[in-house]
Amino acid sequence: MYLLYLDDSGSPQNVNENHFILGGFIIPETSLYWVNKNLDNLAEELPTNSADIVEFHASEIAGGRKSPWEQFKNKQERLDILKKVLQVATDSRNGIKILACAVEKNQFPGADPVELAFEDLCSRFHQFLQRKHVSNNEKANGLIILDESSYKTTLQRLAKNFRTLGTKWGHVLTNIQEVPMFVDSKASRGIQLADHIAYSIFRRYEHADLTYYNIIEGYFDSVDGRLHGLCHSTLKQSCTCPYCMQKKLLALAKP
Ligand SMILES: [Zn+2]
Repeated sequence: MYLLYLDDSGSPQNVNENHFILGGFIIPETSLYWVNKNLDNLAEELPTNSADIVEFHASEIAGGRKSPWEQFKNKQERLDILKKVLQVATDSRNGIKILACAVEKNQFPGADPVELAFEDLCSRFHQFLQRKHVSNNEKANGLIILDESSYKTTLQRLAKNFRTLGTKWGHVLTNIQEVPMFVDSKASRGIQLADHIAYSIFRRYEHADLTYYNIIEGYFDSVDGRLHGLCHSTLKQSCTCPYCMQKKLLALAKP
């Protein structure tokens, strides 16, 4: 079984932001131990009363909001913690493959950015599972896990439709469990890591800040140099992000 942990960054409704991000990572269920262990160890290193109550939430760490982050008066110290959380995704024992979709909201007026991103990522997860199926010759199943606070009703309905009716690309997602699982981010180190991944991608697209994105860039789902794990939903031709550059090169290579 492969698990896909997803979280969002940026608000679908905030007109002052151009991007909405849904992102996270695929992990074999047997490797989740390393994510939990690495993040628990990081929590124990912090000068707090109880490591159990430390929830890694990127925007709260960056902003120094809530306990225990408000006691770190030095901003750089907090940003170093954020980077250490992201480095957990790069531990080879996890076998993590990052998936993310960045939607440029004003390019798709009338569309729901959450629905656009979720459909794209369900399809990418399905294709990942199909590849595993072909290479291992056994059916690979997947389960999507999201933060409890995120768009539960919409996403459950969409996931069910993808399984029965298929996505707009014609993929019927039979390898993915019927409904996503929603968990409390306080209790899930997996969701906390997905939150940091989504945050780092938001910083890249919304603020052209590569500080965090560069840590995880090499860990997107890809095969033989072909990037599968990143989507940038935009109609702009000028973007030079890895997804847009690959799309242009593939279009040029077509006969
Ligand atoms: Zn792009």
